[in-house]
Amino acid sequence: MSIPVMRSFRLYRPKPPSRFVTDYSDAEKADFKARYQKVGKTYRIVGKIVLGAFALSFMSILCIAFRLSSPVLHWTAGLGMVLFFTFFFALNAGPCPACSQLVDSEVGLYCPECGGKMGKDRRCLSCGKTLWGGETRNYRIKYCTSCGVHLDDKGI
Ligand SMILES: [Zn+2]
Ligand SMILES: [Zn+2]
Repeated sequence: MSIPVMRSFRLYRPKPPSRFVTDYSDAEKADFKARYQKVGKTYRIVGKIVLGAFALSFMSILCIAFRLSSPVLHWTAGLGMVLFFTFFFALNAGPCPACSQLVDSEVGLYCPECGGKMGKDRRCLSCGKTLWGGETRNYRIKYCTSCGVHLDDKGI
């Protein structure tokens, strides 16, 4: 199966998947997972840098606020902010290797944490968790929410 190529800069929104997790063979599923490993790993590393940069900036500003002022703190506060924004925008979960929908798109048919079917009100029918999307999502993505394929063991 080939992955459609993004041809322009218009909003990247491929049509809904035509095949789902149950339509693939074990070999195909293993291949999708293997292909996603590098993306998942990079995402976790970049995510840690974003958190670290945020903490650095936050602590520096806190020290300045408590008048522990030293010129170094202004530098670390600024550096933390620059790193935070740079790596925040570099956080990219990429497209699903099976259905090519964006992996961190809105919660769809499948639960990104356990791969079960999603019910009403963003509640998973298998694990019972209610999922909140957006930048502060309350779940890790282990399965593609659009087609249900297992992408990553640790989750991103
Ligand atoms: Zn679930
Ligand atoms: Zn998918």
